[in-house]
Amino acid sequence: MIEAAHLKGLSLVGLADHGPRNIGTGVKNSQVYLEIKEEVKIINKEYIDLDIKVGAEANIIGLQGELDVSEDVIKKLDYLLVGLHPYVLPQNFNSAWKYVLGNQLGKLNKGQREKVKNINTKTLIESINKHKVLAITHPGLKMSVDYKELALACVKTNTALEINTGHKWPSLKDVLTIASTGVNFIVNSDAHFPETVGELDYGAYVLKKANVPPERILNAVKD
Ligand SMILES: [Zn+2]
Repeated sequence: MIEAAHLKGLSLVGLADHGPRNIGTGVKNSQVYLEIKEEVKIINKEYIDLDIKVGAEANIIGLQGELDVSEDVIKKLDYLLVGLHPYVLPQNFNSAWKYVLGNQLGKLNKGQREKVKNINTKTLIESINKHKVLAITHPGLKMSVDYKELALACVKTNTALEINTGHKWPSLKDVLTIASTGVNFIVNSDAHFPETVGELDYGAYVLKKANVPPERILNAVKD
């Protein structure tokens, strides 16, 4: 991934693997992030023009915004992202029922869908109130959220919302709603393979349409 970033001429690249409670993907445990950080320190010596940051994309595993990455590891990383993913191991039965299963049942009926949307939004807001989060990843993807409520909470806590070019998410319509709150954005390729590192075109496209100035885009090149 670092080699791909270098070949594409990027000046900065961030590596943020999924948290350990993601089923099927992610690091084995929080300590792995620190190993990645050590490895990157060594690799970075070969790439003097590239600034390599190491972060985590933590999962929310409880209804009070609890994360699956420990606080002492977070402190040692360059940045923290938080995202909702449909397949995580929850902290306890209550969060399992309301949050993990809720999102599955949410596919069935409208009343349940609204309830689940509310829980998703609240847990995300709890997480950014509790932790210093750089950005919320792919808001609303597979786990619906109230965009306006979330964006307003992000403005208060100085948290950015991610435009995820890998999933082309959120849609232009939702970006327009979000942008009107004055929230900051970060554009991310969500590259899981070297081929898509630095692919940021969708983000540039929607943010231009929404008239978001570069000052509100964390990784925009400002000239
Ligand atoms: Zn994610």
